Amino acid sequence: MATASLRIDLDAILANWRALDALSGPATETGAVVKANSYGLGAARVARALARAGARKFFVACTEEGVAVRQALGEGPQIFIFSGHMAGDTEMIADLGLTPMLNSLDQVTRHFEALPGAPFGIQLDTGMNRLGFEAPEWQAVAPIVLPQGPELVMSHLACSDEPEHPMNAAQLAQFHAMTDGLGVKRSLSATGGLLMGPAFHFDVVRPGIGLYGGLPFEAAEPVVRLTLPVVQVREVAPGETVGYSNAWEAEGPSRIATVSAGYADGIHRTLGGRATLWAGDVPCPVVGRISMDLITVDVTHLSEIPAGLDLLGPCQGVDDVADVAGTIGYEILTGLGQRYARHYVEGAR
Ligand SMILES: *Cc1c(COP(=O)(O)O)cnc(C)c1O
Repeated sequence: MATASLRIDLDAILANWRALDALSGPATETGAVVKANSYGLGAARVARALARAGARKFFVACTEEGVAVRQALGEGPQIFIFSGHMAGDTEMIADLGLTPMLNSLDQVTRHFEALPGAPFGIQLDTGMNRLGFEAPEWQAVAPIVLPQGPELVMSHLACSDEPEHPMNAAQLAQFHAMTDGLGVKRSLSATGGLLMGPAFHFDVVRPGIGLYGGLPFEAAEPVVRLTLPVVQVREVAPGETVGYSNAWEAEGPSRIATVSAGYADGIHRTLGGRATLWAGDVPCPVVGRISMDLITVDVTHLSEIPAGLDLLGPCQGVDDVADVAGTIGYEILTGLGQRYARHYVEGAR
């Protein structure tokens, strides 16, 4: 093993998509959010697999991502752009048949003037104050926009990872008030909202993290395994130190493995001295600082040193690592580095 290996189980992504599709019921179409390079896992491979499994609506953050997904998928599936129709994007939107979710009067004007008759959707702000039309603005713009036949009207929940949060009911009520009776397809929920039940499903759901094995989809199948190759093993005597700033000192005779990956690969430096790598099902504590390209691990208790140690795998998922790093699974996934050799498992079941 020369370079760290990131194994991405496309079969597990499809199983997660199908499980979420079953949860959302037959009246609701299940799309797939593949922004940020499919949460770091490779937009082209992931989107193609999902399209083969039956996904027809894909969502990305910006037009450039939409271009990449269109090139991977070819014609057919709809690709929605959350950031809408930005200045300079007109040609890409037209040439690749992308569907911008228009967020403002500026974007509506730009889209209707530059690409009359071209598909679009509308994003509404139901309280998150991030993207989309607010209620009074929508009231004024709707009579202009609706006759042009939007593909979808959507909004986004701010607190769907906390099902009991009153914000969810407030946004649901606001979404109804802004969209009831329009006769346009509606979408409110990402993974968290989908899991809150039928009231949140509407016509289309937009799961992202749940496809990739992260919370709040507790029943998700794990998708990634990240194995870091052991470069060297050394004996360290009591009183000797390991790594930058002498941050770790051996209390007893120790064996330390140096593995190839570091903060340049998305392994947060804050994990130094706190994270655990795994030799199969045996935990091995990270000792000392995390360097740019290297991590040192205490393997004194192992009878045999494996070729690689897992940061992500059956014993430790993205949310476990996120907890130790003080962040969320989303950030662990999207931070996965470019140096990893990505291996895809597909059609194995
Ligand atoms: C990222 C995103 C999603 C997907 O969210 P998950 O929590 O990953 O399921 C859906 N809709 C919008 C607007 C988003 O930005």
